[in-house]
Amino acid sequence: MRRILGLKVDVDTRRGMEEGVPSLLDTLHAFHATAAFFLSFGPDNSGKAVYQLLRNPRFLFKMVRTNAPGLYGFRTALYGTLLPAPMIASSLPGLCREIEARGHEVEFHAWDHRTWQDALPRKRAVWIRDWFTRGFAAYEEVLGHPPRSFGAPAWLLTEEAVAVLREFPLEYLSCTRADAPFVLEGTGLVEVPSDLPCLEEVGGRNGVPRVLAALDAGGVHVLPVHAEAEGGIWRDAFVEILRGASDRGYEFLPLSRIASIVREGALRTRPFRSALLRGRAVPCAV
Ligand SMILES: [Zn+2]
Repeated sequence: MRRILGLKVDVDTRRGMEEGVPSLLDTLHAFHATAAFFLSFGPDNSGKAVYQLLRNPRFLFKMVRTNAPGLYGFRTALYGTLLPAPMIASSLPGLCREIEARGHEVEFHAWDHRTWQDALPRKRAVWIRDWFTRGFAAYEEVLGHPPRSFGAPAWLLTEEAVAVLREFPLEYLSCTRADAPFVLEGTGLVEVPSDLPCLEEVGGRNGVPRVLAALDAGGVHVLPVHAEAEGGIWRDAFVEILRGASDRGYEFLPLSRIASIVREGALRTRPFRSALLRGRAVPCAV
């Protein structure tokens, strides 16, 4: 059985972009690995997460358990509240182009990540369309071409969001957590889900053996990576995963390649539903 590992890197914050991305580029280079970077282009409103702390106790436990201050930094915790929200990928166009120049794929993750994550279920089509329009414009201004893919922030989707994203010229999606690729109902697009757990969900460094055990059987897998984590305090754990995958005979392919490989087979069309996965604070699309 073919052994392919897709690395889906999400960049959610200014610090993840500024410090995490260069660190990840070095790590990936050492393994001759290519990844797909899903970037947030607009404002970093991370500080607004403080309102989640007040509403959802699971969120607070998660922040403590995963050492959120170490992951995100003190300034990040104030962006959008006491400090103004800085722009993320939009303000670092050279770095966006460098990711591509180094052979990786750059895709669209968010305009305003925090607001999607906190408020999407209350948002109607007009707001969602505006969010995509700004994000696509920012992406094209920086990269000079439209994105091929969208990866929903926090793997959060609604029916309304699916209806709107059809209006944008995308080639594939990576919006859910599921075991295998499928065609997302209502879009006609191949969905390349993340099937492996992210380090944050399996207790950071200690979770590496669990991630590697899932690779023993071979096949096509997608690992969700966060620039803030694997490009920061869990850099060593990420190196261990890449080494383990490489020892097991995996090749690292960008998600667009995986999408075209799986498109050749007969994929089932399926809807998404929301579920609370182990180690997560809020439900996501599965
Ligand atoms: Zn994200």
